[in-house]
Amino acid sequence: MKKVSSKLSIIVPCYNEEEAIPLFYPEVEKAKEKMPEVEFEYWFVNDGSTDNTLLELKKLNKKDPQHVHFVSFSRNFGKEAGLFCGLQRATGNYIVVMDVDLQDPPDFLPKMHQLLAEGNYDCIGTKRADRAGEPPIRSFFARLFYKLINRISDTTIVDGARDYRMMTRQMVNAILSVKEYNRFSKGIFSWVGFKTKYLEYSNKERSAGTTSWNFWNLLQYSIDGIVAFSDVPLNIAAFTGLFSFIGAGLAIIWIITRAVIFGDPTSGWPSLVCIILFVSGIQLFCLGIVGKYIGKIFLEVKHRPLYIVKEEK
Ligand code: UDP
Ligand code: MG
Repeated sequence: MKKVSSKLSIIVPCYNEEEAIPLFYPEVEKAKEKMPEVEFEYWFVNDGSTDNTLLELKKLNKKDPQHVHFVSFSRNFGKEAGLFCGLQRATGNYIVVMDVDLQDPPDFLPKMHQLLAEGNYDCIGTKRADRAGEPPIRSFFARLFYKLINRISDTTIVDGARDYRMMTRQMVNAILSVKEYNRFSKGIFSWVGFKTKYLEYSNKERSAGTTSWNFWNLLQYSIDGIVAFSDVPLNIAAFTGLFSFIGAGLAIIWIITRAVIFGDPTSGWPSLVCIILFVSGIQLFCLGIVGKYIGKIFLEVKHRPLYIVKEEK
């Protein structure tokens, strides 16, 4: 094995993880022992937890104040904000982002570091080998989402890629230069480019606690991803409008011609009502799509900070 001395920053977003943190830290420490040539720092981000997460982080910080740091937000700002904050704080030449629930196995760290240090890649990512253990309905929608977004966006988002990845300083600087407010990390990681190698592993159960995702916020997350990385929905709205306009125009010509030739017996009210409902439905749907983008622009132009820090060590 080639000896390299480097510094690795570990970014860990935590939301209500009081039970998972005490299980996570020793596992990473164990992995650390296999890489004696590497200096470490931790950046835990407490994303407005309502349990004793902050207390647990303070305990770790007290144990090893030189290497364990934490940032505590004033409220829950979401995992994306936590990741961004951690990346901003990291000082290492290699940076890894991982979940605290041990679904991202720490024993991958030496291998990831070794691969990066060899210099052939800028990022060592991870993806799930399969979707075993996942509810079938979630797998179905996840697959649908990846198919859809990869078809309508120029940025490729690898199916099953996890956020667990180790990156070079250069790549992290590129990610930090992406200043958008609506951060869809899966997309941004891919958008900045650089060479990524994916390691695979099967789904793991959470070490403790419960996932903060449910069907609705996953759906919202998917829509946010699509809106952030594709304007195809806007084109669909525009073309739907165009086609229904042309269709209606042709229908009008036909109806007038028919009335002139055959007279105009008043009939066809039910079909008229159906057409009005159909077309106004399309209009509202398209307005909704446009509104979604305008909403994102609104959030973007306000230039609000991504997070507010309450405490930091
Ligand atoms: N997380 C966070 N803020 C949130 C939700 C989640 O910082 O608002 C953290 C959470 O503590 C965990 C990681 O993001 O370390 C992944 O969350 P989770 O395990 O709930 O997601 P899943 O693994 O089920 O996709
Ligand atoms: Mg998890």
